[in-house]
Amino acid sequence: MGRLLKGGQVVNPVTGSIASLDVLLEGNMVAAMGADLAHTDHEVIEVTGQYVLPGLIDPHVHLREPGQTHKETIATGTMAAAAGGFTQICCMPNTAPVTDEEQTVRYIREEAQRCGYATVHPIAAITTGLRGTELTDFAALRRAGAVGFSDDGRGVQSAAVMRQALLTAKALAAPIVVHAEDETLSAGGCVHAGEAAQRLGLRGIPSSAETVMIARDIILAEETGAHVHMCHVSPEEAVAAIRAGQGRGVRVTAEVTPHHLLLTDAELETWGALAKVNPPLRAERDRQACIRGLLDGTLSMIATDHAPHTEQDKARGIADAPFGFVGLETSFPLLFTAFVASGVMPLAELVRLMSTEPARVFGLRGGQIRVGEWADITVIDPRQTRVVNPAEFRSKGRNTPFAGRVLAGWPTLTIHAGRTVFAS
Ligand SMILES: [Zn+2]
Repeated sequence: MGRLLKGGQVVNPVTGSIASLDVLLEGNMVAAMGADLAHTDHEVIEVTGQYVLPGLIDPHVHLREPGQTHKETIATGTMAAAAGGFTQICCMPNTAPVTDEEQTVRYIREEAQRCGYATVHPIAAITTGLRGTELTDFAALRRAGAVGFSDDGRGVQSAAVMRQALLTAKALAAPIVVHAEDETLSAGGCVHAGEAAQRLGLRGIPSSAETVMIARDIILAEETGAHVHMCHVSPEEAVAAIRAGQGRGVRVTAEVTPHHLLLTDAELETWGALAKVNPPLRAERDRQACIRGLLDGTLSMIATDHAPHTEQDKARGIADAPFGFVGLETSFPLLFTAFVASGVMPLAELVRLMSTEPARVFGLRGGQIRVGEWADITVIDPRQTRVVNPAEFRSKGRNTPFAGRVLAGWPTLTIHAGRTVFAS
């Protein structure tokens, strides 16, 4: 017996169109799409007035397992993904042990499969132990299922190591995923080097700490012909450097987070350590540059950079608390409310940024609902508004500076491989 999603508005981010279509699911596949499909012996799921999207895909998540399961586990992180409408996520290698060996890549994939909430694609470490010196075994990690390589959480300080990483990744057709941070410039900083840092008497991280490494890695990608993907871009100058690199034909793609699109360092005065993230929330002109970069295609996808921490971690004050926000359960409604409901971009474009483009860049299936393909589907309700309440999160992390916001566009149903993994 199939299941019929009846009466929804199906979003096609590839054509940019939205159409009234029923979607028939059989097993783990999409079996048929059409207006008013017959429903004699199917289970009917009524979704009139709601939007039916391809499952969202997040290229940048910290699942904390193995090693820091008090902050998050693969089970709780993928449950949070499902609640946020994500059916596939890429996870970062700054685990304990670091994801720098095949067995850890395999463990993460298998544990995610066992949990069944979302497909997890590990991004393996560039260097062993994230120490920045010795390359990991890229070929073996790729065979084990790594979709890219990154030392995320730290920048690769040596240009020579990065150049070798780019050459090795190119031979395997995998992207190098760059956390851009020159530690000689960021050292000791905890927030953006701007007005809020001055007022609060905090040590700043200048924009140049990020931009110089982005510029360096664009030059190295140009020289090697490798594909470099820039994580969580935040300063105006970095957006300009990426735009210029793309203009010269360099294989450089980039992601931006909801918090860098929606918040500035002014939040530190309200939220304290709950507004501490790396790269830091920056100035209004940086935020505006990120929005322009998103609208002109320089920054071609959204990444949550979901980074769960405990309440005690975040209670240590701005200088000492760890960096990061949770994001899986709030990102879609945040951007739907800020950009789609307000008319800045069409819904199909937001879905392209949050599904189709990450699928294309990381070589994943999905990104479009099609007959004969895997049934990864997210249904969202444009009319239902709800307050962000961290106490309700599936994630173990509650650390978000978006608590209390009233948002629209919440997921009501997430289907992963034909199975309902979230329903509100
Ligand atoms: Zn990072």
